[in-house]
Order: sequence, then structure tokens, then C-alpha cells
Amino acid sequence: MQAGAEEHISIGQTAQTQFNTAAEAMNLDDEVRVLLTTPFREIRVEIPVRKDDGSLGVYSGYRVQFNGARGPFKGGLRYAPEVDIDEVRGLAALMTWKTALVDIPFGGGKGGINVDVKDLNIYELERLTRKFISRISRILGPYRDIPAPDMYTNAQTMAWIFDEISGRQGYSPACVTGKPIALGGSEGREAATGRGVVMVFEEFAKLEGWVPADMTAAIQGFGNVGTFAATFLDELDVRVRAISDITGGYFNENGVDIKAALAHRAEVGSLEGFAGCERITNEELMALDVDMLVPAAMGGVINRDNSDQIKARIVLEAANAPCTSIGQIHLEDKGVYIIPDILANAGGVTVSYFEWVQNIQQFKWDEERVNSELGVIMRASALKVHAAAKQKNVSLRTAAFIIAIERVAEAEKLRGV
Ligand code: NAD
Repeated sequence: MQAGAEEHISIGQTAQTQFNTAAEAMNLDDEVRVLLTTPFREIRVEIPVRKDDGSLGVYSGYRVQFNGARGPFKGGLRYAPEVDIDEVRGLAALMTWKTALVDIPFGGGKGGINVDVKDLNIYELERLTRKFISRISRILGPYRDIPAPDMYTNAQTMAWIFDEISGRQGYSPACVTGKPIALGGSEGREAATGRGVVMVFEEFAKLEGWVPADMTAAIQGFGNVGTFAATFLDELDVRVRAISDITGGYFNENGVDIKAALAHRAEVGSLEGFAGCERITNEELMALDVDMLVPAAMGGVINRDNSDQIKARIVLEAANAPCTSIGQIHLEDKGVYIIPDILANAGGVTVSYFEWVQNIQQFKWDEERVNSELGVIMRASALKVHAAAKQKNVSLRTAAFIIAIERVAEAEKLRGV
């Protein structure tokens, strides 16, 4: 984790603090607070995998179904060494608020395996994924719990999940989203999170009078979300001065050539060796003098240790939980404008919802329709959050949480305890 000395502030704690702040602001009933912060179900399974060299790797897999009052549990699967129950629980909670905020008929869930994908080849990763799914398949399904990609999982991972579950439940394309197009994936899903991030940014730019073509940005993370966020910001003529991935940061005062960076990544698999830029560290990227910082990698990267060095006046949260609670307070004290994750990166789960709808109806939408429907939801959600923050005199994050909590609380109440 890059959370430095603040490592003990986990994503779970961050999500809980964000909930508490909103609960206080809306004077939420104590019983409802307990109901909405207690996960419905948490599972941990052992996943033994025989490696190609004959050795045995044993990993821990998690799935947390946080709240399903508004629909089946929905949330990504993350493969990373730091995955633990607290992180998965926190991310599952955030999914609950995210799906409610953009008003799609899902609850919140999340899963993960504590594995470093660099240690496994593709055949070993397939065995790991299949074994994990076989051990939790009873709680998954199109109307129970629907996984999707997250860090270090992708469309291929989702294809294996589709195959495992369909083998047990019959042809079930709606059991997982983020699938390859050939297996019922949706047009536009791959780009959806990054596209949604930039749609939300555009909406706020209009509301606040920012001129994208006059703005500079730095983006941390150049994976699924970071590459598409970079592409669409570049299309708006925002000057992206720095990008980064696990190999470090790449800075160009006049703007990074995003198309060249994408081509380099496609060829090499990472940004390592990307020319035409000065090498900087990920820490230096966070402290750059740019208008907007776009964290698009892991959580906790804006924290007690580095928040006083951040010079950007806008933080567009493409990653999940990039600010710890203390990091957020420091930024707010400096007047930094934070566009919160549960709004900014909701484009992925929104197009996952479209994928699920298309799979259930066995009817295919073209990309134009997907992007246009995505735009309707992202823009309406951004406007609603902006208006609620003004009306209640709270931060955008607290406004987003209040909208989400009200929806989940109402569904819980109507269903009865
Ligand atoms: P990804 O695996 O495709 O990419 C992750 C990127 O982060 C890679 O470029 C990797 O090199 C970089 N990275 C990893 N460790 C790093 C480090 N220590 N310093 C700097 N960079 C580092 O993952 P993704 O799907 O793009 O997800 C990124 C973030 O967005 C995560 O927080 C995820 O939860 C969130 N998110 C993803 C989606 C989605 O649809 N994929 C949706 C919503 C939110």
C-alpha cells in the first residue's frame, strides 16, 4: 500500500467514516445506521492452486455481499497482494452507495483474492479463478450476486467466471459483467468507467465555469480506468502533464502524448521505457502543480502524509477511496474541490447494468446507445449531487452519500426488517 505511515487507515474505515459523516448530516436514526453498516454476508475461502512448476500456492479469496435491499449484489473482483476482508468490505459498502446514487437496481458487493498476478501465468490464473468461483458459486447468479472486473482482473477473467457458473446453472450470461463482446459483453463497457469519469468532469466544468482546454491534469494509474480517462481528457484538450503506473511517473510540461503512451503500453504491457517524458515517482506526480489530480489506481494515496503537498485545486476520484478521511479533511481545509469516487467512477457499474439488461433480454445495444444512456445517468447524477451539496451546505461526497443512504434506507424499510 502507498498509504505510508497512515497504513492503518483502511478502505473499510474510510468508507465507514464517510457514511458516519453523512449519517450525522442527515440525522439518521440509530437503528437504520446499524442496519445499513452491517454486511449481509461475508465469505472467505481457501484457494489452492497447483503451479506449472509443481509447487502449490494457497491464496485467500473473499466475497462480501454488503447490502441487497435494492437488487442483486454487484461489484468487482480484485486480485492484489493487499486484498483482505476489511478492504473488500469497505469496497462492497462503497458499491452499495454507488449503485444507489446512480439509481440502478443493484445492491453492493465486492470480492478479491490476495495474490500478486505477476507470480502466476495465464493458465495458473485461470485455475485460480475457476477454483475461487467453484467455492463461492452457490451465492452467485444473475439475480443473486454479479461480479465484474476491478484491479488486475479483466474481460478474460470474466469469461472464465461465465463459463464456471454457466456449467452449474445453465447458460447464464447475466451472471457476470465486463465479459468479452463475443460472450455477451456490452459495447462500451471497457471504456465506461473512464468515459463516465470524464462525463462527470465535463458536467462540473459547466456548472463551475472551468474551461477544459485551459486546464492541466496529472493521472495516477494507466490501467483500464486511467487509460480511458486520459484518452477522453485529451479529447477535451485538457493538457495531461503526467501519467503513471506501477513502473513510475512520466512527466511532460507541454503535455504527454497520450496516443503514443497508449501505443507504448499496448506493445510493452506497461509504461516502462516510454520516451519523450521526464521520469518522476508516483509520489512526485501527486504533488505536481496542475489544476486537476486524477487518482486512477489504488486507494489511500491521498493521506495524512502527503495531503499538504498536493497543489491541484481539483481532485477527480477515478479510483475507489483514493483519499483517506484525514487526507480528505486536509484537502477540504485547503479548499480543494473533490469530485467523489461513488459518483465519478460509477460509469463502470452503470454500463455493467446495461450489459446485464441486454443479457437478460438477449438483445444487443450498439455503442452509441450505450454511451448515450450512460451520459444521461452520469449527467443527471452529477447535477443531483451538485444541487444537494449546495442546498444542504455539505461536501459533494456527503451529498452523494445522503442521496444514496436515503434510497437504501427506503428500500430496507419497505421490505421490512
Ligand atoms: P487496472 O488493474 O486496469 O489498472 C491499475 C493501474 O494502477 C495500472 O496501471 C497499475 O500499474 C497502476 N498501479 C498499481 N499499483 C500502483 C502504484 N503503487 N502506483 C502507481 N500506479 C499503480 O485497474 P482499474 O480497473 O483501472 O482500476 C483502477 C481503480 O479504479 C481501482 O481503484 C478500481 O477499484 C477503480 N475502479 C475500476 C472500475 C473498472 O471498471 N475497472 C470501476 C470503478 C472503479
